[in-house]
Amino acid sequence: MSDRRVRVRFAPSPTGPLHIGGVRTALYNYLFAKKHGGDFILRIEDTDQNRFVPGAEEYIIEALKWCGIVPNEGVGFGDGPHAPYRQSERKEIYRAYADQLIKSGHAYYAFDSEAELDDMRKRMEAAKMSFSYNGITRQNMKNSLTLSQDETDKRIAAGENYVVRIKIPRNEEVRVKDIIRGWVVVNTTQMDDKVLFKSDGMPTYHLANVVDDYLMKTTHVIRGEEWLPSAPLHVLLYRYLGWEDVMPEFAHLPLLLKPDGNGKLSKRDGDRLGFPVFPLNWVDPVTKEESSGYRERGYSPEAFINMLVLLGWHPSGNQEVFTMEELIDQFSLERVSKSGAKFDPEKTKWFNQHYLRMKSDEELAKEFEPIVKANLANSIPHVRDEIRNPKYIEQVCHLIKEKAYFINEFWSIGSYFFIAPTEYDAELIKKKWNDNSRKFFPVLMENLKSMNGFAHTEIEQVFKSAAEQAGIKAGEVMQLFRVLLSGLATGSALFETAELLGKEEVIKRLEAGLVKLN
Ligand code: GLU
Repeated sequence: MSDRRVRVRFAPSPTGPLHIGGVRTALYNYLFAKKHGGDFILRIEDTDQNRFVPGAEEYIIEALKWCGIVPNEGVGFGDGPHAPYRQSERKEIYRAYADQLIKSGHAYYAFDSEAELDDMRKRMEAAKMSFSYNGITRQNMKNSLTLSQDETDKRIAAGENYVVRIKIPRNEEVRVKDIIRGWVVVNTTQMDDKVLFKSDGMPTYHLANVVDDYLMKTTHVIRGEEWLPSAPLHVLLYRYLGWEDVMPEFAHLPLLLKPDGNGKLSKRDGDRLGFPVFPLNWVDPVTKEESSGYRERGYSPEAFINMLVLLGWHPSGNQEVFTMEELIDQFSLERVSKSGAKFDPEKTKWFNQHYLRMKSDEELAKEFEPIVKANLANSIPHVRDEIRNPKYIEQVCHLIKEKAYFINEFWSIGSYFFIAPTEYDAELIKKKWNDNSRKFFPVLMENLKSMNGFAHTEIEQVFKSAAEQAGIKAGEVMQLFRVLLSGLATGSALFETAELLGKEEVIKRLEAGLVKLN
């Protein structure tokens, strides 16, 4: 690596919501920058006005913020020394570089209309060849290489539409050094004369990307594999613009594959298999179609980042759970593989569960409290006042967190802590409610009533001796006790649950249950 200060950029085009593959690109750039004490820049590449989607830029910024991937410079994150960072606002900058390439003979004007290009395409297809504007076909097209200087000047002066194309040399090898893939060698016969500058006064992606990386002092270009075919063109542009000595190093990241490994992970896979492929919810501004996001599904950003970082990067040890600091410390592009990474929705859920369990009861209660309040708003008659206090909610979280993958499951798992059951698990009642239980529960109730404290260990003792008194095994009625308290056949630790509900509430629930079941 050269001794320049590391500067990397994430350069999305605002053409829709950011796919999780894009978030991974941003993440790897961020980790690489932080690891090397460098800068991470967010540049919005919006030169293709036809593909601009309103709201997409805001979405990108919000998604990065949610993930904790914070750029040092860039759109939405404060100006740095190279502002503006939105390419549409840098429009004036690019023209001079297109002119420089024309002057040095590495680019030319092309006047072909859409209809003429179409016509050529059809003729080539008829001859069973595919059309590309290249060293051979350019000789039959309308451009400043085939027209006289005079004619060219006249057309430009008359305001005729034109584009500027790169003049790809004949039969040369272009070598791209990729940190992940090694040397990638392409012969220029495989390349076409890509458009660099369009008649609307805007550069294309290729020119703007290279010019901005140069001006913004980018040292490493870390981006998705889909841009690998563009890299030889970019290398030529650096060369022709005289910037080869400061050309960034390249690293093209592997594709994200479908869970079965067959092909690229697409939005449709997410819909089909029931997992989001976007960080945040997105509503298409035109079709109004909704796509779900990890945030709204209840994933924590830590879990999301943790699963994402492992799609392509392999740590040196067996560690699976990483804080952002640990990732910064351990990340290296050398440990990114070149083969595609299979997306694993189950693993993603596992990560969320892991992070959920690591949270303190207090943190969980803060997130659960609004959910409790919203649910209780509709069911006030069932609720005692003290259970709305945060300490109570904290203790509930403590008892139910092991059962959940997501905070938004807490209510369905533990609503009985707030609302007394009115229904009882029918299958269990059918199987277990019998004369023995009819005999046992009134005894239990009396014994509970006479307790002074109400600690779970004491309740357990009282429970066992009541069973003895009634002449039955405690195990026979344990599950029924649970069902009378919660309505459910399984749930949080039984005696702890009783302790938290409190003596009065437990007795009330037993009484109500006995009336209903006897
Ligand atoms: N604008 C390109 C994109 O949308 C950026 C590719 C690059 O990083 O060079 O992904």
